[in-house]
Amino acid sequence: MAPGIPVTCSSDELFSRTLRILADLVRFDTTSHKSNVSIISYVKDLLTSCGVDSQLHWNTRHDKASLIATAGRGGVRERGILWSAHTDVVPVDGQIWTSDPFTLRVTDKLAVGRGTADMKGFIACCLAILSAAAIDSLTRPITLVLTYDEEVGCVGARQLVPELRKRSEQAIGCIVGEPTGLTVVVGHKGKQNHRVRFTGEAKHAALAPEAANPITTASALAIHASSLNQRFRSQGPHDERFGIPYSWINLGRVEGGVKPNIVPAVCTMELEVRALPEQGCDDISSQLRLYADGTLLNQMQAHTASATIEWEQLSDTPWFAIDENHPFVEMVTATLSKPTPPEYVAFGTEAGLFWGHAGIPTVVWGPGSIAQAHAPNEAVSLDQLSTCLSSLQKLPLASTSQTSP
Ligand SMILES: [Zn+2]
Repeated sequence: MAPGIPVTCSSDELFSRTLRILADLVRFDTTSHKSNVSIISYVKDLLTSCGVDSQLHWNTRHDKASLIATAGRGGVRERGILWSAHTDVVPVDGQIWTSDPFTLRVTDKLAVGRGTADMKGFIACCLAILSAAAIDSLTRPITLVLTYDEEVGCVGARQLVPELRKRSEQAIGCIVGEPTGLTVVVGHKGKQNHRVRFTGEAKHAALAPEAANPITTASALAIHASSLNQRFRSQGPHDERFGIPYSWINLGRVEGGVKPNIVPAVCTMELEVRALPEQGCDDISSQLRLYADGTLLNQMQAHTASATIEWEQLSDTPWFAIDENHPFVEMVTATLSKPTPPEYVAFGTEAGLFWGHAGIPTVVWGPGSIAQAHAPNEAVSLDQLSTCLSSLQKLPLASTSQTSP
């Protein structure tokens, strides 16, 4: 069997190093609305000190960056593996924590802190291994990809797609280290968030029969969404691999109006589409848009010529589905996973961008539970961190001849 990744320290040392790195990572408050430059600089410096160069890919405001770093050149034709994670975390606002969320607390079983499960625990494992690896022994390179703004719609990863596509020929595959409890995940639905703004004209309620009412129009869109949902549920498409085997539109927020005696000028609605791979979010959101921009806008403008309906797409997480029998899935399942079949999950990840958009075979696999992610007192179990370390080291990336016994 092909050998794994050789490291220059004991497993105890590697584990302590992982916790030290995790403590550093948790200390950076990388809530999505803040800059991630500090954590990216930390990772870049750490990798530089191990002889690994990093490439940064900045956003247009130059306050956030993704990082791509490759360790080990391998043979010219040897394809490597990617480890990927997002650096941003969700806010702690309104949550009750028993300790500072940005100071790592280690108990006898858990590492507690914002991002420990989603996904700084995985990043710490990757960095600990890279910093301890006998890099010259790697015949297949390891590329670390860290992104920003995953939690607000995979913004950083989407920007990286052209760069990843260039690297796809050189990649065996990618592991996206979202918290799956170390089970290999091969699929999830797509997700899009939209804000729809209905605008009419404020008027005395006595004149309501002659006015376009944005709240009424928003309600009509809600009823239309509901009828589409009933159709998805009863007529499909259906895909039994998913816990809820059909697509759905969720109306998450409605805001508008002042008082009963005023026809409102504006109503805003926010909705989320979750779609099966074979259906896709675009198909569903364009059905909604067609109805709004045609039927509903005509009805509004019949009363108020200046009425408008504006759509804003707030986020887009593409669906992800890879064949369970794909050679990369079989390789990682055999190497990394518990002896359980690959699974499908309800939450979204960046995996669809790596596989569907950039053409790199991908699985989602990482320490921690999704039930812990985004929650107060977020934690990852020390056992899972330890298993993550030993599993990643088993990946067949070094040659027998160059590996020390
Ligand atoms: Zn995540």
